[in-house]
Amino acid sequence: MRVDVITIFEEMFSAITEYGITSRALKNKLWSINCWNPRAFTHDLHKTVDDRPFGGGPGMILMAEPLAQAVEKIRESGNNGKIISFSPTGKRLEDADVKKFAEDDLPLVFVCGRYEGIDQRFLDTFVDETYSIGDYVLSGGELPAMVMLDAIVRRLPGAIKDLSATDESFSTGLLDAPHYTRPERWRGQAVPEVLMSGHHENIKEWTRHQALQITATNRPELIKIARSKNQLSKKDEKFLELLLKSQQVS
Ligand code: SAM
Repeated sequence: MRVDVITIFEEMFSAITEYGITSRALKNKLWSINCWNPRAFTHDLHKTVDDRPFGGGPGMILMAEPLAQAVEKIRESGNNGKIISFSPTGKRLEDADVKKFAEDDLPLVFVCGRYEGIDQRFLDTFVDETYSIGDYVLSGGELPAMVMLDAIVRRLPGAIKDLSATDESFSTGLLDAPHYTRPERWRGQAVPEVLMSGHHENIKEWTRHQALQITATNRPELIKIARSKNQLSKKDEKFLELLLKSQQVS
């Protein structure tokens, strides 16, 4: 998957090009990344990419023209993929979006905002989709771009060797169950007995119950969605009913 990123802070992307799964996937050529600095498309001494907002207000705005020229260069270089920008005002990035981008495995262009944002005329002219990664305000679009890229790349076929991407949070509609590793006893706390039993059916049931419990507690809306998608079995419903009763009692 080819990705071109327009950013004034190219160095930040070393966080995903030099570490972990995304770095290994890059070396294995599952994806590629080119960064484009809009300052390269300015013509003044200070390489200015921002200016004051019309109508007043605090902060600066990224100007449309350097970003537009960066997009045009990216197009010339052969990336005709969707142009994605980031904003707290965008559509919330969900697992389903990530899954789709990974399955499509098509080229993408990411535009990272800074300051108070990007001139709306650039967004109206070039951008296909805008994503938010949550209800809080960050200083720039680089972290959201990296969050989205990390989430997509780890789902590309071959990026992760084992099956963890198919049974982790959201893939089944539920959150993940807790995990334990050696030693068996740590600072007085034992690993849940069932995990040491070697009884695969019981382990599967325990894991499912844990996932149901943590989802019902932390993200009850996901239970409703899973129910509407017929992702919950009769046994799941029975467990949730008992859980609800026990919570009402305590
Ligand atoms: N004025 C904007 C607002 O109030 O919605 C905030 C601009 S923010 C300081 C600068 C840039 O960071 C944005 O253009 C966007 O690219 C990025 N950004 C900040 N928070 C974000 C979020 N929650 N999701 C996605 N992008 C975000």
